[in-house]
Amino acid sequence: MGDWKRFTFESRIAYFSMEIGLSNDIPTYSGGLGILAGDTIKSAADLNLPMVALTLASRKGYFRQKIGPDGWQQEYPVIWKPEQFMKLLPSKTLVTIEGRDVKIQAWIYKVKSPSGGEIPVLFLDTDIPGNAEQDRHITDELYGGDNRMRLKQEIVLGLGGARILDALGFRIRKYHMNEGHASLLTLELLNRSRIPFIENWEEPGLWDVRQVAEQCVFTTHTPVAAGHDRFPYPLVDEVLGEVIPTPLLRELGGEEELNMTVLALNLSHYVNGVAKKHGEISKALFPGFEIHAITNGVHPFTWASPYFVALFNRYLPSWAHEPEILVRVDTIPDEDVWDAHCGAKAYLFQYIEETTGVCLDPDLLTIGFARRAAAYKRGDLIFSDLERLLEIGSGKLQLVFGGKAHPHDQKGKELIQRITQKINQLRGQLQMVYLENYNMDVAYRLIPGVDLWLNTPIRPLEASGTSGMKAALNGVPNFSVLDGWWIEGHIEGKTGWSIGPPPTEMTVSENHTDEDAVDLYDKLEQVILPLYQNDRAGWVKMMKNAIGKNAYYFNTHVMMRRYVSEAYIR
Ligand SMILES: *Cc1c(COP(=O)(O)O)cnc(C)c1O
Repeated sequence: MGDWKRFTFESRIAYFSMEIGLSNDIPTYSGGLGILAGDTIKSAADLNLPMVALTLASRKGYFRQKIGPDGWQQEYPVIWKPEQFMKLLPSKTLVTIEGRDVKIQAWIYKVKSPSGGEIPVLFLDTDIPGNAEQDRHITDELYGGDNRMRLKQEIVLGLGGARILDALGFRIRKYHMNEGHASLLTLELLNRSRIPFIENWEEPGLWDVRQVAEQCVFTTHTPVAAGHDRFPYPLVDEVLGEVIPTPLLRELGGEEELNMTVLALNLSHYVNGVAKKHGEISKALFPGFEIHAITNGVHPFTWASPYFVALFNRYLPSWAHEPEILVRVDTIPDEDVWDAHCGAKAYLFQYIEETTGVCLDPDLLTIGFARRAAAYKRGDLIFSDLERLLEIGSGKLQLVFGGKAHPHDQKGKELIQRITQKINQLRGQLQMVYLENYNMDVAYRLIPGVDLWLNTPIRPLEASGTSGMKAALNGVPNFSVLDGWWIEGHIEGKTGWSIGPPPTEMTVSENHTDEDAVDLYDKLEQVILPLYQNDRAGWVKMMKNAIGKNAYYFNTHVMMRRYVSEAYIR
């Protein structure tokens, strides 16, 4: 009996996520969704919660990014070996894909907390001798391939995940679907709920939908209809086959096409969006469903730079287990906060010099912008009026960018190209760099090392956003459009600054780009730069507020306590 067997003694919450970002060495994440999953698991370990997490092994990772001389993103696989970090579990399971049997195995990785808590994470893998050659590649690339491949991956995650838990002897008290990718697990649960020995099996009433819903929790992350995974039924018939009767699947997953969000909504007793505003948007998108909101967080120990770890350890020693104590940040002397920040800034600047050859000036206000390069995040908003930008910022501020575009996202790649072209064009007038291959390691240096964290999404498309929470934890104030978590975290001139009008819109049809850009320039020029340059005490007060009024609350410990009391034990 392997030592993992002890994880099966107690019934657990099974947390399913297509991507999980635990550390940079395990490149099975693409962005915020995966990092959130990793941070969730780490906080669950810290809080000693009985959880087991599942994801795909993604043996070629997401991708490693290089940016060519023309500013165009190039992608390379990140080959990693599960056996270097994980143990292979003895039991396998089977799913049927395109009529073929596909075997699935699982690698176990243990997330251990200093508190003694431990969470097993299972990485599902189809690269097994005996599987058809094409099926061995299903778990290669995270979000790789076409819609058919996406469906195959979701079969492995949802159906395969539910089955392998059973094969290994795990007892599950709740299934938590982090986004709709894992919704197919509900089909397995439906079949288990079936009342046996009744002749007319086409009758949907025989599948106990309520009983399945009692077991399921669903977190939606997408604020637009087009963002939800959908599969045409002919494709579903070909790839998945008939796991439950087609009429029942259509009733639960959508009449026109199989919508993974609708399926999860129909089969979960608790559904939530990832910030208050996103909860409202989701309700408007899916009328008739009760949708709650639990705002995302970040794992404090993971995202505090070494300088702030040392600072917090010294003055607020229980902070990593009890981040609420950061509310007492005002007991830390100003000089020590500033010194910690200067350490983090020097650490980043050294990295920038090593990777790009550019030597930034530690005395200048340094603004950071890094996240997935998706068009809606508008990373180039700050370049709307170059003349104005130079007038305000030349010789006074510098900018650090980073972020990957999904390999199929032409608009995202064009965005990167536009940003890098501006960097070249303004060289000598405004110092800027684009850091390649934004990942957990780069984020860990970049976010704490800048003075101000910028975010400029088109409202209401930033469901939550979490990088701003990482910034706040390290005393970096946010300067952001009022969307996602920042609506809840923002106190003007105290925790940071807003960009543009208050958040009233429910759809993307209202666009405030010009207004946002003008507000961005005005505040930079009239409020932020003067404060940074002339009032050290005032700036450190902002830094402390970011910690004491944002970070103490926007973290995954607080978030997990809410999931437990509002979703898991209901
Ligand atoms: C935190 C993080 C993100 C999420 O950034 P947002 O600004 O919330 O979109 C994406 N990628 C990496 C590597 C991160 O660490």
